[in-house]
Amino acid sequence: MNPPATPNAPTVTFWGAARTVTGSMHLVEVAGRRFLLDCGLYQGKRSEARERNSRFPFKPAEIEAVVLSHAHVDHCGNLPNLVRQGFSGPIYCTPATRDLAAVMMADSGKIQEEDADYLNEKRKPGEKPIEPLYTRQDAQNAARLIHSVPYDRPYGLFSGVQVRFVEAGHLLGSAMVSLTIDGASRPYTITFTGDLGRRGLPILRDPAPVPPGELLISESTYGGRTHEPVESLAGGLCDLVKRTIDRGGKVIVPAFSLGRTQTVIYYLGQLIGDRRLPELPIFVDSPLAANATEVFRLHPECFDEETLHTLEVNPDLFGQRRVHYTRTVEESKQLNGRKEPCIIIASSGMCEAGRILHHLKHNIEDPRNTVLIIGFQAPDTLGRRLVEKQPEVRILDQMWKLRAEVAVMNGFSSHADHNDLLAFLGPLAGQTKHVRLVHGEVESAEALAAALRNKGFGEVVIPARGEAVALHGVA
Ligand SMILES: [Zn+2]
Repeated sequence: MNPPATPNAPTVTFWGAARTVTGSMHLVEVAGRRFLLDCGLYQGKRSEARERNSRFPFKPAEIEAVVLSHAHVDHCGNLPNLVRQGFSGPIYCTPATRDLAAVMMADSGKIQEEDADYLNEKRKPGEKPIEPLYTRQDAQNAARLIHSVPYDRPYGLFSGVQVRFVEAGHLLGSAMVSLTIDGASRPYTITFTGDLGRRGLPILRDPAPVPPGELLISESTYGGRTHEPVESLAGGLCDLVKRTIDRGGKVIVPAFSLGRTQTVIYYLGQLIGDRRLPELPIFVDSPLAANATEVFRLHPECFDEETLHTLEVNPDLFGQRRVHYTRTVEESKQLNGRKEPCIIIASSGMCEAGRILHHLKHNIEDPRNTVLIIGFQAPDTLGRRLVEKQPEVRILDQMWKLRAEVAVMNGFSSHADHNDLLAFLGPLAGQTKHVRLVHGEVESAEALAAALRNKGFGEVVIPARGEAVALHGVA
């Protein structure tokens, strides 16, 4: 039995990314004050996602601050809705996350509006009109609340609560969150890993050592699984593009616009530059990806040594010379008429919304084409159904035959795999009283939990949604 919580002792309640990989959101309560770690969009079945995202399990107006780990939509994408429903406090994150989150939320607001418009056009007489979850205006309102705090600089969140951002190596600006909370008899420490990156990924620095915390909240996305090595990515991508070109087909890449798109472009640029691939048109059909790439260019302080060096000799790091960024819907539609081989990268990564839906619709019935999946696909998303190679898939309320090749390259993941997670977290064995594994499906989280227990971590729990952990007065 745990002793009762002591005054000033923090409690963390896991309201999102609990036994799943989406909708990261954890509520920290200390001495009557409440703040959130992340406020991500939950992605999944449309009706369930709608319900989950629109109803917060607390009053948004009673939340005093949000600490944001990074700018992926499953971590920041429900902030506009939090603001729409009454939150008006500061949102803290690193400078690069601030800039990325602003473009990310604006794009998400636009997608929410467009998605509602599209469904309303298809609406049968008598059916209720669909409201967007939030609008571009809500996204702008959320962006105005963001305050940036550089890496490794302790910052007072409230009196007695300090936050420090530590390099997580997962996305430009991504951070682990280290919290120190003054208690009646001693300080409490909480570490939230956010999403952890991999060693050796291009562009980004490797994750810094995980700060010790008596409560460690860690992601577990790839627990029990290993990625293909970073070194083999370029070769694999080269083979896949070549065989598609030989068939006269197109490569369609549903992309997470932040991070992975830039990584794929970086590799394609290298392959074409080294003449391992012919010059072929590359379209990034996403205003968000275009904007995000601009943000990448603005933040070389986040680049690793190798990228800084490459940048000195080749300022065209993200292929502005070779890559066509399509911004308007007209330009996007013109891509459907192209007959010759090309590469089309479009969001969203799990194929739940955005322009990728139209490209899939026009291309998956042609066996010459390839759909290249480069990221994790949550259950009940179109992306997951493509990975499962279901013979027919529903896209925008119509069934389409899946005849295109579907290739999965998980090596593009910017998430730590099982071995990376053990290497990053391992040094904290013996220093951490409570481990809570989030941001993983149960099977993955359990695999990681078992490995961590083997390494000497005592209490490792995979919390269900709404479950809480309280720290106690005695160390
Ligand atoms: Zn992420």
